[in-house]
Amino acid sequence: MPARLFDSPEYPTISAGGDALYPVHRIFCVGRNYADHAREMGAEPDREAPFYFMKDAQSLVSSGATIPYPPGTENYHYEMELVIAIGAPAFKATSTEAEKAIWGYGCGLDMTRRDLQKANSAKQRPWDLGKNAEHSAVMTALVAASEFGEVGSQRIWLSVNGETRQDAHLSDLIHSPVAIIEHLSRFYHLAPGDLIYTGTPAGVGPVEPGDVIHGGIEGLPEIELTIGQPE
Ligand code: MN
Repeated sequence: MPARLFDSPEYPTISAGGDALYPVHRIFCVGRNYADHAREMGAEPDREAPFYFMKDAQSLVSSGATIPYPPGTENYHYEMELVIAIGAPAFKATSTEAEKAIWGYGCGLDMTRRDLQKANSAKQRPWDLGKNAEHSAVMTALVAASEFGEVGSQRIWLSVNGETRQDAHLSDLIHSPVAIIEHLSRFYHLAPGDLIYTGTPAGVGPVEPGDVIHGGIEGLPEIELTIGQPE
């Protein structure tokens, strides 16, 4: 009888309201999905097709946590984002199927080692060291899509130590949640347990140990993160 050499971790979970937990399998992230953020990163906004990177599900952290300042960076950035939680299978989805595949939404922080992301981009290397840092996928509890309503003019904002740094509206998204699912499902069998971080507005910037981040999107629980000392 074959036996596992070590215990395999269970899928991490996030609250989905009441006693419900949403197990997280994969974390997809969309790059440069707000025009002003694309420009602040030195790129022209590309409206043709979204592009993606991924984070390990094990990098999930619940809102309210304190995370260590990560190793290997001197420029750790916040990115405030709307996150889609997939609730039904979607493969080569039509827009109607894409809409039905959305279980709900949460607030997320895509924490980023910006110096490593930029250095690797400049050498045409992948973003993993910059983006897939441990503890770098921060999430609030989810709210069902039926409760949240249409994605539109809701405000999305972030502050560091009480100072507003990001302030935009979900209507500024280049690719809407439905458009992202239509596109991403041409490449993957999306399924319950898949999260999609939809990109961040302009105003990204660095944090230091001791900083406290707050963020919000109208209709969703607020997100909070404290940056601890380096490990
Ligand atoms: Mn991001």
